[in-house]
Amino acid sequence: MSDLLQGSPAPGSRLPAPVSFEFYPPKTDEQRQQLERTLVRLKAHAPRFVSVTFGAGGSTLSYTPDTVRLLREQHGLDAVPHLSCMGGTRLEIAELLARYRAVGCTRVVALRGDLPSGMATTGDFRYAADLVRFIRAEHGRHFRIEVAAYPETHPQADDAHIDLRHFKGKVEAGADGAITQYFFNADAYFRFVDEARQLGVDVPIVPGIMPIANFTQLRRFSELCGAEIPRWIVRRMQAWGDDGAAIRAFAADVVAAMCRRLLEGGAPELHFYTLNLARPTEAVLERLR
Ligand code: FAD
Repeated sequence: MSDLLQGSPAPGSRLPAPVSFEFYPPKTDEQRQQLERTLVRLKAHAPRFVSVTFGAGGSTLSYTPDTVRLLREQHGLDAVPHLSCMGGTRLEIAELLARYRAVGCTRVVALRGDLPSGMATTGDFRYAADLVRFIRAEHGRHFRIEVAAYPETHPQADDAHIDLRHFKGKVEAGADGAITQYFFNADAYFRFVDEARQLGVDVPIVPGIMPIANFTQLRRFSELCGAEIPRWIVRRMQAWGDDGAAIRAFAADVVAAMCRRLLEGGAPELHFYTLNLARPTEAVLERLR
């Protein structure tokens, strides 16, 4: 328990698979301090890399590169930028890639992004596959390119098969690997990976794991991004409300049990959506050690 509170892994205890963590770029001093506190704790779990999200419509055009540089230079982490098509011209994206290359990045996460409400222009690239092609054309094999995958189907996709074919298109465009949208149903991941393999997609597909921090927020967000929270989890969470030791322990147990199943079923690594908080991710990692 004390390890869990302090965030340092018990000596000699090992995680069953490599992990990576996702952070969003802080914009205020308060957020910067929170990220610092989180980093100090999560670094102890030796992530393979950490990724930094990119705001819709280029709104974090400088926040993301600044955070990537900070994580690399001050924390010695292999910080990986997310790049999105939204609102970014070819030139802006080329400049960002040059910046990332200059600070030593050799991996990027290439996304379409979502158009913020009120914004009319999507930028020069329409789909993530176009961005992947551009990165390959400009930088050859310098960057390892990760793309997004949706075990429960992208919310805007007409049908699951078409969405899977679009996923395949990103790999054909040059992606080396994928990180999935979060889910709470391991079977959706296994089925997705099986179907991708049947289509000849052989890149690693790493499950994205969402440790549950604030359930009310998570429910709202899950509706937007098309991730299903099983009814049995919803009902138990509702019974406890948003806070308290019981709900945190239940949430961590559920997510850790799913992680174990994913790894036993062949998932190569785990990518955690930390939301810049240490404790929910640590609680899951603690259970996996
Ligand atoms: P795409 O792969 O381009 O697909 C988007 C939709 O278009 C899908 O429905 C697909 O089926 C369809 N499609 C693809 N190609 C075609 C085609 N040729 N013709 C017709 N339809 C097509 N968002 C951010 O803004 N910033 C981030 O940092 C960020 N990080 C993320 C990290 C991960 C691991 C994941 C899973 C998502 C992330 N997102 C992020 C969210 C993501 O941008 C959204 O889910 C977005 O709606 C889709 O992005 P994509 O890269 O999957 O798009």
